[in-house]
Amino acid sequence: MARSPLELPPAFLPEGFPGHVDFVKSASKLAEAPATSLPEVAMCGRSNVGKSTLLNTLCNRRQLARVSNTPGRTRLLNFFEVQRAMMFVDLPGFGFARGSLAEVQSWGETIQAYLLDRPQLKLTLLLTDARRLPEKEEQELLLWFRQTGRPCLGVLTKADKVSKSDLELRRRKTAELLFMHPSDVIAFSSLSRDGRDAIWRTILAACGVDLRSPPASEAAP
Ligand code: GDP
Repeated sequence: MARSPLELPPAFLPEGFPGHVDFVKSASKLAEAPATSLPEVAMCGRSNVGKSTLLNTLCNRRQLARVSNTPGRTRLLNFFEVQRAMMFVDLPGFGFARGSLAEVQSWGETIQAYLLDRPQLKLTLLLTDARRLPEKEEQELLLWFRQTGRPCLGVLTKADKVSKSDLELRRRKTAELLFMHPSDVIAFSSLSRDGRDAIWRTILAACGVDLRSPPASEAAP
């Protein structure tokens, strides 16, 4: 049976990816975001939720996203170009930021502006820790974000830290608390890599990208 472009051969992504993943830049406001038209996937969640680990696991890198956790960059939007076909955008902990009121308002405005006004944003991943259910901040973020009409995928991180039966209950409860369909919340573990391919499939579908094609710049003349 013919494979649809998004049904990836099991070995393809883990073994065959990546070709190119590069940190592009950090931006403190929307006007500083890279001037490309590549489709973008944003990732947000509380600090320590496993955002860098997810980015690294998706890209088969060890320390790719360490740059996001370096002092000075944790409050910026960090852009990574993937396979010259899309951008992953690591967002600072929107809604979870600590700091002076003015600082928190300013980050909030930047991130809201990005989530609302960036035309190339195709998908936002909201990460929550499998061991704790979404709280007021995540619910408020999702309620606000839903009004933008833009697609969002929930990712339950550190899935290996709860039992299989508990995980399924938590996945469903998380979806309910985030006003999402259960199929839009994927459990992920960086240890077992469970969930990785499902997240990739959602990303590729949202971006309309097939990573099996070589980057345009490398295609045979
Ligand atoms: P960030 O602050 O959101 O970027 O979080 P990190 O990616 O730095 O992860 C925070 C901590 O959680 C680190 O010690 C990671 O090793 C750990 N962690 C992240 N993802 C997983 C996972 O899927 N399973 C387990 N067991 N630990 C994880």
